[in-house]
Amino acid sequence: MTLASSRPEEPNTVRLLGLAFAGADLVFEIDPHGVIVFALGAAERLTGRPDPELVGRDWASLFNPSEAALLSTLRKDIVAGERRGPIRVELTPRAQAGAPSAASLSVFRLPQLGSRLSCALSLGAPAGAPTFSRDARGFTSPESFASSAEYLLAEAGKAGLVLSLDLVEVQGLRDRLARLRPEDAEEARQSLEAVLRADSFCGVGGAEVSADRFALMRSSDAPPGRLLDNVGAATGGPRPQLARLPLGGSASARNMRTMRLALDRFIESGPGAAASGFEDTVARTLRDSSRFRDIVARSAFNLAYQPVVCLATGELHHFEALARFSKDTSPAETIELAEDLDMIQAFDLSVVRAIVRELQAQPRTTRIAANLSAHSLMIDGFLEEMLGLVGNAPDIRSRLILEITETRKINDLDRANTLIARLRQAGHVVCLDDFGAGAASLDYLRRLEVDFIKIDGRYIQSMTEGSRDALVVKHLVALCRELGVATIAEMIETDGVARLSQDLGVELGQGWAFSKPLDKPKWKPPAPAPRPARARPGARDVWG
Ligand code: C2E
Ligand code: MG
Ligand code: MG
Repeated sequence: MTLASSRPEEPNTVRLLGLAFAGADLVFEIDPHGVIVFALGAAERLTGRPDPELVGRDWASLFNPSEAALLSTLRKDIVAGERRGPIRVELTPRAQAGAPSAASLSVFRLPQLGSRLSCALSLGAPAGAPTFSRDARGFTSPESFASSAEYLLAEAGKAGLVLSLDLVEVQGLRDRLARLRPEDAEEARQSLEAVLRADSFCGVGGAEVSADRFALMRSSDAPPGRLLDNVGAATGGPRPQLARLPLGGSASARNMRTMRLALDRFIESGPGAAASGFEDTVARTLRDSSRFRDIVARSAFNLAYQPVVCLATGELHHFEALARFSKDTSPAETIELAEDLDMIQAFDLSVVRAIVRELQAQPRTTRIAANLSAHSLMIDGFLEEMLGLVGNAPDIRSRLILEITETRKINDLDRANTLIARLRQAGHVVCLDDFGAGAASLDYLRRLEVDFIKIDGRYIQSMTEGSRDALVVKHLVALCRELGVATIAEMIETDGVARLSQDLGVELGQGWAFSKPLDKPKWKPPAPAPRPARARPGARDVWG
């Protein structure tokens, strides 16, 4: 290791301290113009030349020219006592085999060194770090951003830092850039990318979530002012708006989901929501998650029971329990939110608990189906907990049907099938809900062994004889029959659709034609109306 300095009179202890602190491969100092005034470490690996030869060179020469905007932001922004980074940077491409192409850069402004900055470079990427792919404009791609978030939260946790998800909105950015000359617009974009990256944790950078909205992860004690000033300056407009979502100190699934949900809403809310400020988005997400936690903790929901009947006889087969958070209002939106917030499993367990109580109070002939989110089923330990709730009563098990609902795609179908097999071995009848609604339905039928499928109401609701819907249902029923799977049609609203469903071979039916959801699992089929004989082809009604 060599030591070089243009000012040998400087006390080296401060610098050595910096080196020890950084655990870096190369420590160097730059003057306010970015000229290297001191270098210590592995310059040879980096430049092929000994350390002293770095002195007098522009620090930008160490890095890929694409990093110019980032370097100038870092140099200008830093205040006394501050440390920025580590930020992943691209190095100057070099022909020499094995030469590192990337490094982590940290910049310090030690008060003892006045206006000079100390920089630490660690060559290569940190072990375990994901690669952060960037889009053509240099922004972190939203996918890469989402997948890096877990790593970042874990890293921050190790360092004792709390991160926040910062959502930055630059109103009117798209229009403003469109009015600029293309090269000026490009420069503005690059400066924006650089200021977001310079301020983001580990330099992951900002993700462009829409034309004028950006998301980045920052240490929650990073001052918001500088970021906003810099974004305003880079884009030549007014100060942008900022919403912060504190993420706690860990990479918990809940953190991840809260973050993803806030991002989704942020993307969806569109420019119309900008007027009220998207601070609301974040506040609403947090409010919703605590509201739902409270609902589960207090079991503050009711169940409505909708009869499912045997289409051939009109007899009751079982009831489907449907959650109600407020009277006569669909729970669908709240359930989806609970899935997004990773809170659905606690809710599904409370529903099962309530159904088991109801089954115990009802005659032994009463069977009730519970909706079980596939998301819950796939969570480690959920199945054991659920089977535990039902206890060792085989009677209850055979009376508790499980309808697996799928709002998000099941990725591991082998595991799902193993879990379903355990439910069936325990004595439960298992049904796949909303069959045909998701893109993966056929694959589910191929790989998941279940007792029933419930054909999605969208095929049934307005099905008419000879229609495409009817044709699909007919062949689906035939396929299921060969696979040994029985079928249920939901959303049967008229007698005509009930009849048609039966004609197509569907075994069970559910819908307003039979009954709306009821307060209690009690229902008797109305006296059977005689089924009109089907007209023979060619036969004519004779009037009068
Ligand atoms: P789902 O399981 O497919 O339930 C059937 C939905 O269709 C219910 O909506 C029901 O009220 C509605 N419905 C029944 N008959 C008719 C009809 O003839 N016409 C029309 N247009 N609609 C009919 P609901 O109660 O709003 O539930 C929506 C979804 O919320 C359910 O769809 C299910 O996926 C989910 N859900 C409900 N309760 C629970 C629960 O306890 N746990 C879980 N994980 N999900 C639940
Ligand atoms: Mg259902
Ligand atoms: Mg459905």
